[in-house]
Amino acid sequence: MTAIARKNDIKDISQNQLAQWLKENNQPLFRANQLLRWIYLHQADRFDDMTNIGKPLRAALKDAFINPRLVVEEEKKSKDGSTKLLFRLHDDLHIETVLIPEKDHFTLCVSSQVGCSQGCDFCMTAKGGFMRNLSAGEIISQVRDVKRKVAANKSMPMTNIVFMGMGEPLANYGNVVQAIKVITNGDWGLKISSRRVTVSTAGLILNMKKLGNDTKVNLAVSLNAADDGTRSRLMPINRKYPIADLIEACKQYPLPPRRKITFEYILMKGVNDSMADAKKLVEILRPVKAKINLIPFNEYPGSEFRRPSVNRINRFQDFLADHHYTVIIRHSKGQDIGAACGQLRAKSLIKS
Ligand code: SF4
Repeated sequence: MTAIARKNDIKDISQNQLAQWLKENNQPLFRANQLLRWIYLHQADRFDDMTNIGKPLRAALKDAFINPRLVVEEEKKSKDGSTKLLFRLHDDLHIETVLIPEKDHFTLCVSSQVGCSQGCDFCMTAKGGFMRNLSAGEIISQVRDVKRKVAANKSMPMTNIVFMGMGEPLANYGNVVQAIKVITNGDWGLKISSRRVTVSTAGLILNMKKLGNDTKVNLAVSLNAADDGTRSRLMPINRKYPIADLIEACKQYPLPPRRKITFEYILMKGVNDSMADAKKLVEILRPVKAKINLIPFNEYPGSEFRRPSVNRINRFQDFLADHHYTVIIRHSKGQDIGAACGQLRAKSLIKS
């Protein structure tokens, strides 16, 4: 049998690439799904555990591939029940993944890059710069490994995935979409419904439309300001794709029926929390099917931004609600363990 030169993580290769490898090794096509079921549905760790695969093929698989799990370097549990997992990757870089308990299910917040190059002013991940993209297998592994852990605890199911951890998912487009295909596949994959997967972007508009065509996941846009001056100061990407272009891309996003785009708005005292800001927000979102998540800023040591008062937050929310928007105030969970929105910064980066 032909073996490929370097051992790859089998989770890095797509269904088509696996089928191609099997074809080159004179195997029937149905073996691809059989193998994928072992890896994702049954969560097999060893090729030798794949009992309906013949010995010669198992040997060839072992020659060509590895099937590792992520190494848990640290696990921290918050008072509110969320758990932050620090994973060590094969090259000793680190990423963080956060498991968040909701009323009757868990949501997993996954990372798509080690660090981030977008440089948002309020974000701790940005402070450490960009190291590299995660491979499809590394993204999938966050979901696969934690799903098994949650199932073993026999509490609530993990049904929701949000790409809101470290990194800008649409800057690692190919690997993120390949991972989403595995995460949402209901036959051999990780069986998470597309309706329950949300990709959050700072506004990489070129890949937004592609995402809508290539997948059926939800889109969230990290907006955080309603005018270009403020947004460009907070989020450098706005200098390339200003708000008007972003909103136009949102208008064109191929939304499935009855779904809306979520706009995330981190409320920062004296920066973007005035009534004038709320009015501008209503105006700019008018052409889009939108719902709004208001996230009071999570202060961290050394952060230059502050969280607005409860009164100010409520006033902002009421104004948007009065203008017929669904507005949810999201108090990020895991603040005491540095797992809240914008706080993720793996230990390896903090040391640098
Ligand atoms: S907020 Fe998101 S896109 Fe901006 S720097 Fe942080 S991780 Fe990157």
